[in-house]
Formats: sequence, C-alpha cells, structure tokens
Amino acid sequence: MKILQVASEVAPLAKTGGLADVVAALPKELRRMGHDVRVAIPFYKEVSSGNLPVRKARKSAEVELGGELHKGYLRQTALGEVPVYLVENRDFFGRDHLYGPPEGDYPDNPLRFAFFCRSVLQFLKRMDFRPDVIHCHDWQSALIPIILKYELGHDPFFNRTAVIFTIHNLAYQGVFPADALPQTGLDPSLFTMDRLEFYGSINLLKGAILAADDITTVSETYCHEILSPGQGCGLEGVLERRQADLAGILNGLDTEEWNPSLDRRIFRNYSSKSLAGKGADKRELQRELGLKAGASIPIIGMVGRIVEQKGIDLVIDLLPRFAAEELQLVILGTGDLRLMHQLHEFRNKGVKNVSINLGFREPLAPKIYAGCDMFLMPSRFEPCGLSQLIALSYGTVPIVRRTGGLADTVIDVTANPREGNGFSFTEFSADACWDAVQRALVAYRDREGWRKIMRRGMLRDVSWRSAAGKYEELYRTCADNRRG
Ligand code: ADP
Repeated sequence: MKILQVASEVAPLAKTGGLADVVAALPKELRRMGHDVRVAIPFYKEVSSGNLPVRKARKSAEVELGGELHKGYLRQTALGEVPVYLVENRDFFGRDHLYGPPEGDYPDNPLRFAFFCRSVLQFLKRMDFRPDVIHCHDWQSALIPIILKYELGHDPFFNRTAVIFTIHNLAYQGVFPADALPQTGLDPSLFTMDRLEFYGSINLLKGAILAADDITTVSETYCHEILSPGQGCGLEGVLERRQADLAGILNGLDTEEWNPSLDRRIFRNYSSKSLAGKGADKRELQRELGLKAGASIPIIGMVGRIVEQKGIDLVIDLLPRFAAEELQLVILGTGDLRLMHQLHEFRNKGVKNVSINLGFREPLAPKIYAGCDMFLMPSRFEPCGLSQLIALSYGTVPIVRRTGGLADTVIDVTANPREGNGFSFTEFSADACWDAVQRALVAYRDREGWRKIMRRGMLRDVSWRSAAGKYEELYRTCADNRRG
C-alpha cells in the first residue's frame, strides 16, 4: 500500500513528546512490512539546523488564506528508508519553537497548520503520489480529513484515498475563535455543530473526528476513557457518534533506538541476561548529577513534560517526603512555567538527594532510563505513554497511576506478584502515590525478587510489530471500503 503519514513532529528532526517517536517508528515498521510509506512535516528551523542532508524537491505550492497568497516549497530528506517531505515557508516555520514559546502558543497557529495541510495535498498532486491511505496525527493535521471530505470529496485524485486520524492526546484539540475561520480557508458553511463548531469556537479535532474514515487512539483503556465526560474533554458525545469507527491501538517502541543492549548514549550496555552494566550506568548517573555514590541507594527517575497531565504537582507536593527518605530522585523535564518555577524554587534549597534538571535534554534522558532503579509517572491521564515502555525495557521498574496506556502496560506487583512488572495506584492523590513508592522501596530490598520484576519488564514485547500489524489491517479495510 501507499501510505502517507502527516504530523507536526517526527523524531529526531522535531520532537516535543511521544508523538514524534510514534511518527518515526510506525513508518519504519510499515516499511519493513513492504509498504511504500512516507512522512510529511513542516520544515521548522530546528530541522534545517539539524545534521540530516535536506534537498530541494523543485516543487512549490500556493495557498490562499485570509486573503493572502502564501508560497510553500517542498524539501525532502529521509529517516532510514522512509522519505520525509518537509513543507517550507520561512515566515511560518522558520521560528524558534514548534508551536510557540513557553508563554503561550503562536497566535497564527491555525494559519500555520492550515497552510501546512493544504500544501501537503497540493504536493501530493504535483508529485503524482496518490496514497491509498493518509494517516493524520493530532489537530495540526486535522484539516486534511476535513478538506478531503468537504472540499475535495469529488476530486478524482483523492477519491480512493482513505483517511485515518489518530488522537494522541485529546487535551489538545486545536480550538480557535470563530473569527479565525478565514485563516483555515474553510467555507463558513462548515461552521455548524455537526462539522467544526464547538461552543461558538472552531474545533479542528472535532472536525477531523467527524470527517475521517476511521479514528484511532493510542491505547485501549484511553479509548474507553475518552468516551466518558471526565476524560472526553467535551468531545465524548462526538466520539460516541463515531464509536463504531474508533479503536485503541497501543503504541510500540522503536527497539533499535531504545534498547539497553545497543544504546550508545548510555555509559555501559546491559540486557535481561546480563544486568551488570546497569550498575555502572547508575554510578555514572550519580556522578554526572552530583548525587552521592552508592549502589544500594534506590534512585527514582522522571522524564517528561512538566505539565499537570503528568501529575507533576503531586510530585511537587511530595518533594519534602522524598527529601527525607533514603533514596535519590532525578527529574528531567520542561513545560509549564508555574510548575517549573516551583521546581526551581525547591532546587534552590540545595537538597542533596533530589536532582532537578529543567530543559529538553535528549542526551540525559537515556542515561536516566538506564541509571535509575525506578521510574515515576503519576499521570492524571495518559493516552499511551512511551516513557514507561522505555523504563520497562531498561529494567527500571515503573511506578504509575493506573490510567490510559499506563493501565495497559504496567502490572502491579502487589496485586499480581507472579506477573507484576511495576507498581500502580488508582486515586489521584499524593498519599496514594506515596504508598506505591513505599511498596516499591520495600520490594527493592529483596534483591533477587527485584531482579525478577526487572526482568519481567525487560522481556515484555514493546516493539512496534503488533501495533503496525493492527494499523496495516485497518488501512487495508478502509482502503478497500473506499474502492467500494
Ligand atoms: P508525551 O507524548 O505525553 O509527552 P510520552 O511518555 O508519550 O509523553 O513521550 C515522551 C517522550 O519524550 C519520551 O521519549 C521522553 O523520553 C521524551 N522526553 C520528554 N521530556 C523530555 C526532556 N525534558 N528531555 C528529553 N526527553 C524528553
């Protein structure tokens, strides 16, 4: 099949979170299965300053939006065997951030991503690449199913192309004031309740959910959760309407990138058969972060966006308890200014057993996954979560809140001592989280028992093979339906 993946991020070219990992790994696996799969993302400044060779493809697009003509140029690079199309427009994408500075999103985001989506569709025609399936990810690519259904529904070039839309996080919906509609180039007639309108605003995610052939999200539990008022973020009714075409497919992990026996970014490699290297990684992490050396001091790691979703506020509440305990805590993350400020304040107290690292530091993340004993993820909600999958593979026992993809991947040791690979808690509270930490600390003292827990996590199949097979099946069904 010919498949185009459209997204706003792909690792390692442009990444703010797990979406980028998915958009890199899924195509790689589909390529291995014999499909012609390609990726399209914007040509951001950080892509141009990266070290992959990027060539000009001598194709341009002209998009009229908000009464102005905007020109786009096509560039091309590759991630392994997978061609990556880059949509260039310096005004829109030659900026310092993908979506905006920490203070807030760029106000012209509807314009930027409408331009991106419309250019992608133009380039497909100019290249005469007619995909069987366009797989779009999150609101930044939501305009594609909307345009294909309502504007280009009768266009012979696209009428055999099926559109799959994946929700990676329902909390980000691409909601804009109604007067931003001209920036998208969409006809005002689409501003109705059964299309794009959402309490008087434009909601691009809603539009895509209603327009795509099929919708997926990134774990089975999250797929159920988003149909309920609490987690549906206002779209539960819309999702319910499409429930027959909605499925949860758990993300995998790129096991070539995230593999403790191959990872060149860590100090010493190791595997489930030979765990000795992990001790060396722990020593090295303690040295690098200025923590007290000691093989028997349990280290708990956290890597992730510093936002309320990740339950970082619980951890902030618990910092005094962590500080008083015989353990070490390592946090790496960036995000919300208020929460980062609170972490910064705590760091200034100079507590010796807590290492707070604020920023996006790709080289430090693998060292934390490898060097820690436990990995903390007390998320309020978690569509899938890649960090716990990485932690499991690195023998770093996850302590998580039982929600979304965390519930689907972490089995609690206390509840299931034979199969448990981590520790989990249900209630979103500092005490429930602390109780799970305590259970993990007790289990850690039994060295042989602990190694068994580590190994069970390391042996879990987290590869993309199974998920890519499910997507392949879905693509085939949708493409067949299109062909009638
Ligand atoms: P989300 O997509 O919600 O941000 P995931 O757990 O799915 O969360 O994926 C997060 C990915 O981003 C992981 O690969 C994680 O290691 C990485 N990551 C997050 N924050 C940082 C950071 N500050 N520095 C380096 N890597 C990070």
